Amino acid sequence: MKASGGIVVLPRNHPLIVKKAQSRPVFTRVGRSTCDQCSFCTEFCPRYLLGHNVQPHRVMRTMLFSGGPEHKLHSQYGLLCCECSLCSLYACPENLNPREACVSAKSDLRELKTGFKNSSLNTGRAPQVHPVRDFRKVPVSKLIKRLGLEEYNKDAPWADISCKPSRVKILMSQHIGVPCPPAVKEGQRVEKGAVVGDVPAEKLGCPVHASISGTVGKVNEKYVEIIA
Ligand code: SF4
Ligand code: SF4
Repeated sequence: MKASGGIVVLPRNHPLIVKKAQSRPVFTRVGRSTCDQCSFCTEFCPRYLLGHNVQPHRVMRTMLFSGGPEHKLHSQYGLLCCECSLCSLYACPENLNPREACVSAKSDLRELKTGFKNSSLNTGRAPQVHPVRDFRKVPVSKLIKRLGLEEYNKDAPWADISCKPSRVKILMSQHIGVPCPPAVKEGQRVEKGAVVGDVPAEKLGCPVHASISGTVGKVNEKYVEIIA
Protein backbone atom coordinates (compact mmCIF):
# COMPACT_ATOMS: atom_id res chain seq x y z
CA MET A 1 0.00 0.00 0.00
CA LYS A 2 1.35 3.43 -0.87
CA ALA A 3 0.37 4.84 2.53
CA SER A 4 2.16 2.06 4.47
CA GLY A 5 5.77 2.23 5.63
CA GLY A 6 5.78 -1.36 6.82
CA ILE A 7 3.56 -4.18 7.96
CA VAL A 8 3.52 -5.81 11.41
CA VAL A 9 1.46 -8.98 11.71
CA LEU A 10 -0.12 -9.28 15.16
CA PRO A 11 -1.92 -12.21 16.79
CA ARG A 12 -5.70 -11.98 17.08
CA ASN A 13 -5.54 -11.61 20.83
CA HIS A 14 -3.12 -8.67 20.77
CA PRO A 15 -4.72 -5.67 22.56
CA LEU A 16 -4.49 -3.55 19.38
CA ILE A 17 -6.45 -6.12 17.39
CA VAL A 18 -9.01 -6.59 20.15
CA LYS A 19 -9.57 -2.83 20.26
CA LYS A 20 -9.64 -2.50 16.49
CA ALA A 21 -12.33 -5.17 16.33
CA GLN A 22 -14.65 -3.34 18.75
CA SER A 23 -18.04 -2.80 17.15
CA ARG A 24 -19.91 0.48 17.42
CA PRO A 25 -22.38 -0.85 20.02
CA VAL A 26 -19.45 -2.01 22.16
CA PHE A 27 -17.31 1.14 22.06
CA THR A 28 -20.41 3.27 22.49
CA ARG A 29 -21.61 1.31 25.53
CA VAL A 30 -18.17 1.34 27.15
CA GLY A 31 -17.57 5.00 26.27
CA ARG A 32 -20.92 6.15 27.62
CA SER A 33 -20.39 4.43 30.92
CA THR A 34 -16.70 5.20 31.43
CA CYS A 35 -15.66 8.52 29.85
CA ASP A 36 -15.02 11.01 32.64
CA GLN A 37 -14.45 13.93 30.25
CA CYS A 38 -10.84 14.37 31.36
CA SER A 39 -10.16 15.75 27.83
CA PHE A 40 -6.73 14.11 27.52
CA CYS A 41 -7.84 12.87 24.10
CA THR A 42 -8.23 16.45 22.94
CA GLU A 43 -5.12 17.76 24.67
CA PHE A 44 -2.93 15.22 22.84
CA CYS A 45 -4.76 15.37 19.50
CA PRO A 46 -2.23 16.39 16.82
CA ARG A 47 -4.94 18.13 14.80
CA TYR A 48 -6.13 20.11 17.81
CA LEU A 49 -2.53 21.11 18.60
CA LEU A 50 -2.12 22.33 15.03
CA GLY A 51 -5.05 24.67 15.67
CA HIS A 52 -7.90 22.74 14.04
CA ASN A 53 -11.13 22.60 15.99
CA VAL A 54 -11.05 18.85 16.67
CA GLN A 55 -12.18 17.98 20.19
CA PRO A 56 -12.75 14.25 20.64
CA HIS A 57 -13.81 14.62 24.28
CA ARG A 58 -16.78 16.66 23.07
CA VAL A 59 -17.67 13.94 20.59
CA MET A 60 -17.53 11.48 23.50
CA ARG A 61 -19.82 13.81 25.45
CA THR A 62 -22.38 13.64 22.63
CA MET A 63 -22.21 9.89 23.02
CA LEU A 64 -23.11 10.26 26.69
CA PHE A 65 -26.30 12.08 25.75
CA SER A 66 -27.17 10.34 22.50
CA GLY A 67 -29.09 7.52 24.13
CA GLY A 68 -27.23 4.55 22.62
CA PRO A 69 -25.44 3.23 19.57
CA GLU A 70 -28.60 3.24 17.46
CA HIS A 71 -28.73 7.04 17.79
CA LYS A 72 -26.74 9.29 15.50
CA LEU A 73 -23.80 11.36 16.70
CA HIS A 74 -24.14 14.94 15.57
CA SER A 75 -21.03 16.40 17.13
CA GLN A 76 -19.15 18.50 14.60
CA TYR A 77 -16.00 18.45 16.72
CA GLY A 78 -14.86 15.27 15.00
CA LEU A 79 -15.18 16.58 11.44
CA LEU A 80 -11.49 17.47 11.03
CA CYS A 81 -10.23 14.30 12.72
CA CYS A 82 -7.61 12.63 10.51
CA GLU A 83 -8.17 9.24 12.25
CA CYS A 84 -4.56 8.96 13.45
CA SER A 85 -5.75 6.99 16.56
CA LEU A 86 -3.44 8.76 19.02
CA CYS A 87 -6.41 9.61 21.27
CA SER A 88 -7.63 5.99 21.41
CA LEU A 89 -4.29 4.21 21.55
CA TYR A 90 -2.21 6.57 23.64
CA ALA A 91 -3.95 9.53 25.25
CA CYS A 92 -7.07 8.09 26.86
CA PRO A 93 -6.31 6.84 30.39
CA GLU A 94 -9.53 4.78 30.33
CA ASN A 95 -8.56 2.94 27.13
CA LEU A 96 -11.70 4.24 25.38
CA ASN A 97 -12.19 4.80 21.69
CA PRO A 98 -12.61 8.53 20.93
CA ARG A 99 -11.20 7.97 17.46
CA GLU A 100 -14.05 5.64 16.55
CA ALA A 101 -16.51 8.13 18.06
CA CYS A 102 -15.12 10.78 15.69
CA VAL A 103 -15.28 8.40 12.73
CA SER A 104 -18.92 7.56 13.58
CA ALA A 105 -19.81 11.23 14.02
CA LYS A 106 -18.30 12.07 10.62
CA SER A 107 -20.22 9.26 9.00
CA ASP A 108 -23.50 10.27 10.67
CA LEU A 109 -23.00 13.89 9.66
CA ARG A 110 -22.22 12.85 6.08
CA GLU A 111 -25.75 11.43 5.91
CA LEU A 112 -26.97 14.93 6.79
CA LYS A 113 -24.66 16.37 4.14
CA THR A 114 -22.66 18.19 6.80
CA GLY A 115 -18.93 18.53 6.31
CA PHE A 116 -16.56 21.00 7.91
CA LYS A 117 -17.08 23.60 5.17
CA ASN A 118 -20.78 23.97 5.95
CA SER A 119 -20.53 23.28 9.68
CA SER A 120 -21.08 25.84 12.41
CA LEU A 121 -17.40 25.41 13.42
CA ASN A 122 -16.11 26.85 10.15
CA THR A 123 -15.23 30.39 11.15
CA GLY A 124 -13.07 30.98 8.11
CA ARG A 125 -10.13 31.85 10.36
CA ALA A 126 -6.73 30.27 9.73
CA PRO A 127 -5.77 27.67 12.39
CA GLN A 128 -3.45 28.93 15.13
CA VAL A 129 -0.88 26.43 16.37
CA HIS A 130 -1.34 25.66 20.08
CA PRO A 131 1.44 27.32 22.15
CA VAL A 132 2.38 24.05 23.91
CA ARG A 133 2.35 21.87 20.82
CA ASP A 134 6.08 21.22 20.93
CA PHE A 135 5.82 19.92 24.50
CA ARG A 136 2.95 17.52 23.80
CA LYS A 137 4.58 15.47 21.07
CA VAL A 138 4.60 11.78 21.90
CA PRO A 139 8.04 10.10 21.90
CA VAL A 140 8.03 7.13 19.54
CA SER A 141 9.71 4.89 22.16
CA LYS A 142 6.86 5.58 24.60
CA LEU A 143 4.29 5.01 21.90
CA ILE A 144 5.79 1.64 20.97
CA LYS A 145 5.67 0.62 24.63
CA ARG A 146 2.07 1.80 25.08
CA LEU A 147 0.97 -0.03 21.95
CA GLY A 148 2.50 -3.28 23.19
CA LEU A 149 4.82 -3.44 20.18
CA GLU A 150 8.18 -3.65 21.95
CA GLU A 151 8.78 -7.26 20.99
CA TYR A 152 8.15 -6.37 17.33
CA ASN A 153 10.57 -3.43 17.33
CA LYS A 154 13.45 -5.32 15.75
CA ASP A 155 15.41 -5.05 12.56
CA ALA A 156 13.71 -7.11 9.89
CA PRO A 157 16.33 -9.04 7.91
CA TRP A 158 16.03 -8.64 4.16
CA ALA A 159 14.62 -11.80 2.58
CA ASP A 160 15.31 -11.98 -1.13
CA ILE A 161 12.18 -13.86 -2.14
CA SER A 162 11.12 -14.08 -5.73
CA CYS A 163 7.35 -13.75 -5.96
CA LYS A 164 5.59 -14.34 -9.27
CA PRO A 165 1.82 -14.04 -8.76
CA SER A 166 -0.41 -15.31 -11.55
CA ARG A 167 -2.91 -12.51 -10.92
CA VAL A 168 -3.05 -9.35 -8.84
CA LYS A 169 -5.72 -6.88 -7.80
CA ILE A 170 -4.48 -3.29 -7.81
CA LEU A 171 -6.58 -1.24 -5.39
CA MET A 172 -7.70 2.15 -6.65
CA SER A 173 -7.43 3.73 -3.20
CA GLN A 174 -3.99 3.18 -1.70
CA HIS A 175 -3.21 6.74 -0.77
CA ILE A 176 -4.37 9.96 0.84
CA GLY A 177 -6.85 11.78 -1.40
CA VAL A 178 -9.56 10.65 -3.78
CA PRO A 179 -9.59 7.09 -5.18
CA CYS A 180 -8.31 6.80 -8.75
CA PRO A 181 -10.76 5.95 -11.50
CA PRO A 182 -9.38 3.00 -13.55
CA ALA A 183 -7.34 4.10 -16.55
CA VAL A 184 -7.43 0.74 -18.38
CA LYS A 185 -10.08 -1.50 -19.93
CA GLU A 186 -10.75 -5.22 -19.67
CA GLY A 187 -8.64 -7.22 -22.09
CA GLN A 188 -5.99 -4.51 -22.43
CA ARG A 189 -2.32 -5.53 -22.26
CA VAL A 190 -0.33 -3.65 -19.60
CA GLU A 191 3.36 -3.66 -18.75
CA LYS A 192 4.75 -3.62 -15.23
CA GLY A 193 4.85 0.00 -14.00
CA ALA A 194 2.11 1.25 -16.35
CA VAL A 195 -0.52 3.56 -14.87
CA VAL A 196 -3.74 1.58 -14.29
CA GLY A 197 -5.58 4.23 -12.25
CA ASP A 198 -5.15 7.98 -12.55
CA VAL A 199 -6.12 10.98 -10.45
CA PRO A 200 -8.96 13.11 -11.85
CA ALA A 201 -7.94 16.60 -12.92
CA GLU A 202 -7.85 19.14 -10.07
CA LYS A 203 -8.21 16.44 -7.42
CA LEU A 204 -5.67 15.42 -4.81
CA GLY A 205 -4.42 11.83 -5.05
CA CYS A 206 -1.74 9.61 -6.51
CA PRO A 207 -1.75 7.43 -9.65
CA VAL A 208 -1.55 3.66 -9.18
CA HIS A 209 0.61 1.39 -11.32
CA ALA A 210 0.68 -2.21 -12.49
CA SER A 211 2.89 -4.38 -10.30
CA ILE A 212 3.14 -7.10 -12.98
CA SER A 213 2.83 -7.28 -16.77
CA GLY A 214 -0.24 -9.02 -18.11
CA THR A 215 -3.78 -8.69 -19.40
CA VAL A 216 -6.39 -6.63 -17.59
CA GLY A 217 -9.15 -8.80 -16.13
CA LYS A 218 -11.94 -7.31 -14.01
CA VAL A 219 -12.14 -3.53 -13.76
CA ASN A 220 -14.32 -1.72 -11.27
CA GLU A 221 -14.19 1.35 -9.05
CA LYS A 222 -12.39 -0.59 -6.29
CA TYR A 223 -9.68 -2.45 -8.20
CA VAL A 224 -8.10 -3.43 -11.50
CA GLU A 225 -7.22 -7.09 -11.91
CA ILE A 226 -4.18 -8.08 -13.96
CA ILE A 227 -3.65 -11.66 -15.11
CA ALA A 228 -0.04 -12.54 -15.88
S1 SF4 B 1 -9.34 10.82 27.26
FE1 SF4 B 1 -10.80 9.13 27.46
S2 SF4 B 1 -11.83 9.46 29.41
FE2 SF4 B 1 -10.80 11.37 28.85
S3 SF4 B 1 -12.37 12.57 27.75
FE3 SF4 B 1 -11.22 11.44 26.23
S4 SF4 B 1 -12.36 9.55 25.92
FE4 SF4 B 1 -13.08 10.44 27.84
S1 SF4 C 1 -7.93 10.10 15.87
FE1 SF4 C 1 -8.76 12.13 15.40
S2 SF4 C 1 -9.42 12.97 17.32
FE2 SF4 C 1 -8.06 11.26 17.78
S3 SF4 C 1 -6.05 12.17 18.03
FE3 SF4 C 1 -6.21 11.56 15.90
S4 SF4 C 1 -6.99 13.36 14.80
FE4 SF4 C 1 -7.34 13.69 17.00
